[in-house]
Amino acid sequence: MHKNKPFSIPQREEATLARGLEGPAILSMAKQRPDENKISLGIDLGGTKIIAALVDRQGRILARDYRETMPADGQASVIARMIGAACTVMEAGGVNASQVAAVGVAAPGPIDAESGVVTAPPNLPGWKDVPLRRLMEEDLRVPTWLENDANAAALGEHRFGAGKGTRHMIYVTASTGIGGGLILDGQLYRGATGAAGEIGHITLLPKGPHCGCGNRGCLEALASGRAIAREGRERVSRGVPTLIGDLAEGDLDQISAKLVAQAAAQGDVPAREIIEEAMSYLGLGMASLVNLFNPELIVIGGGLTKMDELLFDPVRRVIDRRAFRSSAEAVEVVPAQLGDDVGVLGAAAVAMGAKKQVSNVQERRE
Ligand SMILES: [Zn+2]
Repeated sequence: MHKNKPFSIPQREEATLARGLEGPAILSMAKQRPDENKISLGIDLGGTKIIAALVDRQGRILARDYRETMPADGQASVIARMIGAACTVMEAGGVNASQVAAVGVAAPGPIDAESGVVTAPPNLPGWKDVPLRRLMEEDLRVPTWLENDANAAALGEHRFGAGKGTRHMIYVTASTGIGGGLILDGQLYRGATGAAGEIGHITLLPKGPHCGCGNRGCLEALASGRAIAREGRERVSRGVPTLIGDLAEGDLDQISAKLVAQAAAQGDVPAREIIEEAMSYLGLGMASLVNLFNPELIVIGGGLTKMDELLFDPVRRVIDRRAFRSSAEAVEVVPAQLGDDVGVLGAAAVAMGAKKQVSNVQERRE
């Protein structure tokens, strides 16, 4: 891989360049032009930031732009900022719109990938049934494809990251919430209405804690960052002697998953128990997925993976204990590789994978 590498700055280095900077971070462009037919443009639309990047087929980022989303300004302004970011990276990469194969957008769900409509994402208040794909295509004149952020991340890790070369891969993001995407037989599995892959909402405890989805005892309600923080607050308010309360200086609102993990790292027993229990639930969820899908790989990304073995050990242990032996032996559980670039590389993977479909723009071009 990475033969004939025309751009010499490694992704990681470049990522640190861009982090925290507003505006374009431009790679030094080599004298030769990028192979234009092979270039996609990924846009990671988040509740707080928009990242756009020009990406080649090997997943190398050729140019990148970062700006705040500022959702309070309204959807028209957010879309204008997305288009601005796209234009900036095309200019930085020395290509025009007709040289970009496709644009992929990773957007907060729920979305309708087929029609390219953002339905009603909780972290983009005021957005309701926004035909984002059509609006982007009208402006950029580039075929545009939309995918929810978790599915896009799964595609990104599958194409460019930890899942490269696998056929049956499950991607899980373990963060404030829990989400994921299923790659089955080499394809993203969307289900009947595009809602497949809601790994965080597998019911594990019918009478368990309330979940953001309205249900009770979902994996997300038991194993997410939010769940870990909730258990930390519960221990402190119950008067359990724990470092968690000290680190939060008695302020329950200061208790986060990060803080519980910090206490656990310092050997605090209640904190370790909270994390061990939460990650065992994550393992239970994964063991069910292993029995259902018999994947060869489970890729776990998201903020909770910073806990490293505190996350991976219980997950692997529970899979080994609970899943069918042959399936448990066949599956590897590994950390995601794309880090903060997963959104934008996932979006680019969406664009690359959508090649077979024909958009209105392609029809017009032909
Ligand atoms: Zn739920």
